[in-house]
Amino acid sequence: MQNVCLLGATGSVGQSALEVLALYPDKFRLFSVAAHSNVEKLADIAVRFGVKRVGIADATKADRLSYLLKEAGKGDVEILSGTEAAVQLASDNEAQTVIVAVVGAAGVPATFAAAKAGKRILHANKESVVCGGELLQQTVRENGAVMLPVDSEHNAIFQCLTGASEEDRRQCRLWLTCSGGPFRDRPELDLSTVTPAMALAHPTWQMGRKISIDSATLMNKGLEVIEARWLFDVPQDRIHVVIHPQSVVHSMVEYGDGSFIAQLGTASMKHPVAYCLGWPERLSAGTKRLDPFALSQLNFCEPDVKRFVQLAYAYEALREGGTASIVLNAANEIGVEAFLNERISFTGIAEVCQRTMQVLFDPKTPASVEEILSVDAAARREAAYQVSKLA
Ligand code: NDP
Ligand code: MG
Repeated sequence: MQNVCLLGATGSVGQSALEVLALYPDKFRLFSVAAHSNVEKLADIAVRFGVKRVGIADATKADRLSYLLKEAGKGDVEILSGTEAAVQLASDNEAQTVIVAVVGAAGVPATFAAAKAGKRILHANKESVVCGGELLQQTVRENGAVMLPVDSEHNAIFQCLTGASEEDRRQCRLWLTCSGGPFRDRPELDLSTVTPAMALAHPTWQMGRKISIDSATLMNKGLEVIEARWLFDVPQDRIHVVIHPQSVVHSMVEYGDGSFIAQLGTASMKHPVAYCLGWPERLSAGTKRLDPFALSQLNFCEPDVKRFVQLAYAYEALREGGTASIVLNAANEIGVEAFLNERISFTGIAEVCQRTMQVLFDPKTPASVEEILSVDAAARREAAYQVSKLA
């Protein structure tokens, strides 16, 4: 029996993880869960799964969480609160597996904590791989942790690289597929007029609000290029993005001999979660299977980086190195929030990113989690200033 800690339990990936865990009560025990502020949902999960520890990042909600648990007859559940709660749960001796399904750079401290504690990490929180860069991968290696990618493209690549030799890995190219978002087929649309409701309507995936906006701007794919660079140690000039509207091919590896290996499946996050939970065994996610006879066509085309400039910014950030990826990620988080609050336009998100990157850059790569968090905080302040100028 494996004890599992689920950070971001109330979110979209959290929900997929809960559904898969519920299929295997004899293999996994949900030991601890954490969220930011949604105490009602968190208490409900804690009661349903009989968890032992619960973390709530927003400390002002701890009393309400305690009340809800007591009311449900679960007053013995231990409550941790504040920003350190997720870090404590991630390094808890009693949990062997940590699922990081928190959104944003808020996941950085907990991901490093899980890596330092040598956990089996099921990793959905791409922002912490983007910010952590090589330092996170080094921390994983040095502490005997295992990092299994839940992000569907990286999960696909991980599967396609199974059995690859060191030489194969040195020569391969990675092809990240991308649905193209809701504005892919609307070249006539003036993107500055896009509303949050329009941008949140993703054509193929059901996801949280932040990643849905990132998918519409293609920043999500940009973050995934950076994520792939560090997870698979492949330089950015061998990482390509290809628009594939059907979201059936989840990504591909092109080997040195010209062979392409792809991973296909239905568009459900339960697949990668189940794969990572079971790895190296395969576990069924209990979802509908792909029917090859029902696939009328699979299309592939190049992304329009002039229209969706944030994808180009991600490659630029990798080329620049230093603090560039952390700054880009933080500026994007602030830009997305401002767009969702209708303070700036859809295209304003890219402007906030570009201006913040122009102002803040240090060629020195952060050498500790504290340095990463300090760059992130400075970039958030600068991005907030840029938002106020645009708003
Ligand atoms: P959601 O917005 O749906 O959920 C985010 C979760 O994070 C919520 O449970 C939220 O709690 C929690 N959270 C936020 N801040 C903290 C914190 N400081 N401590 C603890 N918990 C916190 O996001 P998604 O599930 O869509 O995405 C999660 C991550 O997975 C992102 O990094 C995303 O890029 C990645 N991802 C998501 C995919 C998807 O299909 N959704 C696909 C591939 C990757 P609360 O509810 O209380 O706010
Ligand atoms: Mg993805």
